[in-house]
Amino acid sequence: MARRCYGSTSVVAFLMVCAALVSVINVGQLSVFLRTKRHTAYGPDTGLYSIGYTLRGNLSMESCQAVPDSLVGKLNIDLGAALKSPTPSKHQDMLPGGAWSPKSCVSRQRISIIIPFRDRQAHLDILVYNLVPVLKRQKVAFRIFVVEQFGNKTFNKGRLMNIGFTEARKHDEFDCFIFHDVDLIPEDDRNMYTCSDNPRHMSPALDKFNYTMLYKSLVGGVLSFRDKHFTKVNGYSNLYWGWGAEDDDMHKRLSASKLSVERPSITIGRYTMIKHDKKDVSSVRLSLLKTSTTRYLKDGLNTLEYKLVETRLEKLWTRIIANVGDPPKNQTENPL
Ligand code: UDP
Ligand code: MN
Repeated sequence: MARRCYGSTSVVAFLMVCAALVSVINVGQLSVFLRTKRHTAYGPDTGLYSIGYTLRGNLSMESCQAVPDSLVGKLNIDLGAALKSPTPSKHQDMLPGGAWSPKSCVSRQRISIIIPFRDRQAHLDILVYNLVPVLKRQKVAFRIFVVEQFGNKTFNKGRLMNIGFTEARKHDEFDCFIFHDVDLIPEDDRNMYTCSDNPRHMSPALDKFNYTMLYKSLVGGVLSFRDKHFTKVNGYSNLYWGWGAEDDDMHKRLSASKLSVERPSITIGRYTMIKHDKKDVSSVRLSLLKTSTTRYLKDGLNTLEYKLVETRLEKLWTRIIANVGDPPKNQTENPL
């Protein structure tokens, strides 16, 4: 091509055509580079394995059924079973980092399960042991992210949720994010782990409370969001340190953003809660809650700060270990 450029009589015109061609080629090369870079950045050589194309599935196949025939309904939960064999052989078809997609059809949604975590390994083993077969019967493509708070300062669940959302999106494209307490075990596989048009509170009925909803605005436990809705509410508040009220704050964000919350019926939205102690109750949680509506657009995803300590691709989940920072010395009602 260079020789043809020199050989041409109308050099200027031809140079312009050449320049245009070169710029097109460059754009092409750039996009190839970007695509390759994504593979390299998440390739096996770096230890960060990209599963994006796997979760997307083989698009020449049919979509999976919205309500698959494989569902069995009410489940008998045996909390002890998981501890005898935390990694059963039936989970061996999962990809490193805790991802799976159906083989016989294309999943309607790719979901990211985000579990805030610290120091509850037995609960995590029990949850994953019980949840993975449910997800497989529901025929949803999924990846599990365990978001672990680094160090031993006061726990901050809201920050971990926001970190999970932010980090998960670096690994794959997801249609749906499900924020999931580590100690809630689903009792019915008709409670679909997918997103609806509105955020959905999936755990209205806990065995601990006799399967009744404690109060109307409850959104704690298991909550599903489309990406755009989680962004619209600006994620969770970053300001709740210790136990309590970050979920009630989320309800206020949803109301302020005019998003209504769906729920399954209390015969299907049932969970067994693994028993544990309650510690580190926040003393300012109720006063923080009072200012939630005026504060939420400047406290959340858009003000999130953290240090990623490590991302580990473990057998059944991706463990994201993050330093969420330190709680303030004197927590006030409205630190903003
Ligand atoms: N959590 C954790 N370690 C802790 C405290 C909380 O992993 O030390 C996570 C875990 O996912 C748990 C959730 O945060 O299910 C909510 O905390 P907790 O269960 O103590 O509160 P509850 O919802 O039972 O009132
Ligand atoms: Mn709990």
